[in-house]
Order: sequence, then structure tokens, then C-alpha cells
Amino acid sequence: MDKLSKAKISYVLNTHWHFDHTGGNGVFGREGRIVAHREVRTRLVAGADMGEFGVIPPAKKEALPVITYDTGMSLYFNGEEIRLTHLPAGHTDGDTLVHFVGSNVLHMGDQFFVGGFPFIDLKSGGSVEGYLRNAETVLKMLPQGAKVIPGHGPLAGREELEAFVAMLRDSVSLVRTKREAGKTLEQIKAEGMPEKYKPLGTGYINEATWLETVFTSLEQSANAAKAKPAGK
Ligand SMILES: [Zn+2]
Repeated sequence: MDKLSKAKISYVLNTHWHFDHTGGNGVFGREGRIVAHREVRTRLVAGADMGEFGVIPPAKKEALPVITYDTGMSLYFNGEEIRLTHLPAGHTDGDTLVHFVGSNVLHMGDQFFVGGFPFIDLKSGGSVEGYLRNAETVLKMLPQGAKVIPGHGPLAGREELEAFVAMLRDSVSLVRTKREAGKTLEQIKAEGMPEKYKPLGTGYINEATWLETVFTSLEQSANAAKAKPAGK
């Protein structure tokens, strides 16, 4: 922090609404303008029961974003463009990719975890298939030599993001194949993830929780497809 400017805070960017990414809003928001996707504000206003993470009360006024967008916007600040792009229905329904264009740095928020399985918030509009699509989208547009900041874990780049996307693809196809073959969640958990991915389960989200998230999300999207009238 001591290398940062002592100037007043102008803007605070929230990548999504979760408390471990917006917990400073109440302090920083007294000085700077909080900028975020529209759904971040909506969810902060409402608060939520986050189950094992506790009940999140509605945020105070000074902790709310005052500038919001639907698909994205750019800030021109510190001599560079900071491009904000909404990543739909992945980690939550209000995630933003922050691209510091001049510095060639991207902050993916919780759309990227390094060294562990990701948390995907199905109760806040997230989906595992959407999460995979968003990670693929970022990988496709990733500029040469870019540094990539994950929501959790150390600073990374293309190599780590490629490995993450491969793990997500493998997880979705593994669980989808087993689910469609009629296996239960319990059976899928007992069989576990392939050996090479086991080390990822020692962190924040263990292997069983990860498999359950993928299973539940695939089930939700299968049910949603069934609920749609034929031909639509
Ligand atoms: Zn999060």
C-alpha cells in the first residue's frame, strides 16, 4: 500500500457483489465513487442468506455503487483506459472483467481461481456452464503477455487460465456424462475427480463441494430446458 498514491480515492470498482470483494465499500465509498454492474447494486441493496457463509444484511447507502451499467463501460483514468465488461451468469449474475488496457492487466474477479476449485454462486444467478463460457471468452480475447489477476490465488497469466479452462471443461463433461448415464450425485462424489485435479480440492472448495456444484447447476439447466415450451 505504501507504494500507492496518497491522493484521495476517485473510483472503486466492484467485480461482483460478494462480501469478500465489496466489504471495503462502506469505507472507500465515503471518498470514492463505487462503480459496478447493475446486479451488484441490486444484490447489495437486498442482502442475502448465504447459507454456510452467513446472512448478509442489506448494505448501507455509502456502500452502494453510484455508477452502474448493463453490458459494460470504460473509465479513462491514470492515463489509460479501464474497460469494464459484464460476464453474464457465471460466478454470479453481475460479474465484471476489468481490463487495464494500457497496463495489459486483466482482473477477472471470481471468474478465475488459481490453485483451487472455484466457488460458483448458483443462488446469485451463477451457473457452471456460464462460468465456463465466460472463462473461455476471456481466454480467447486475452492479449499477448497479459497479466491476469484472479479473485483468489496468486497473480497469473495465459498458462494458468488455460489450465483453469481445461479443468472446467473436464469437470462439466465428466459430470454431464455420468449424470446422463443415470448416476446419482453420491456415486459421482464417491468416484471423484481425475487424479491430476485432486490437489485443487485442498483449498477453499473441496472436491465433493465442487462436484455437487457442477451436478446441481447441470440439473438446474436441464430442468429449465424441460420447462420451456417445445420449439422455443
Ligand atoms: Zn465471489
